[in-house]
Amino acid sequence: MAEETIFSKIINGDIPADILYQNDVCICIKDINPQAPTHVLVIPRKPIPRLVDASEEDKALLGHLMLSVGEIAKQLGVEDAFRVVINNGEDAGQTVFHLHLHLLANTKFSEGSLGM
Ligand code: AMP
Repeated sequence: MAEETIFSKIINGDIPADILYQNDVCICIKDINPQAPTHVLVIPRKPIPRLVDASEEDKALLGHLMLSVGEIAKQLGVEDAFRVVINNGEDAGQTVFHLHLHLLANTKFSEGSLGM
C-alpha cells in the first residue's frame, strides 16, 4: 500500500490544519508556503496520487472538485480572477502525491499566457 501523505493525515485528523471549507468529497486548506496572497489547496478525501491516476470511476469526483473550487472562490471573494493549477508528476513540480488543486488569486497574472 502507498505511504500515507501529509494530506491524508490532515483529512484523517492525525495532523491539525485550518480547514477553510469542506464537503463530503474534499477539503480546502491554506497552502503553508503561499505563492500568491490567496493560495489554497482543494484536496479530495479520496487519495488519488496524481491526476493521471484518476479513472472513469472518478468522473463525478473530478467534476465535484471543479464545482467546489468555484464555490470556494466565491466564498473567498475572488470569483472574478483566480487561477487553478494541478501539478502532475515530480518533473511538473508535484511534491505531495495526493491529488490537489491549487487556487491562486489576488496577484497580477500575466495577460494572455500561463504566466510561466
Ligand atoms: P505540489 O507541489 O503541487 O505537490 O503542491 C503541494 C503543496 O502543498 C505545496 O504548495 C506546499 O506548500 C503545500 N503543503 C505541504 N504541506 C502542507 C501542509 N502541511 N499544509 C498546507 N500546505 C502544505
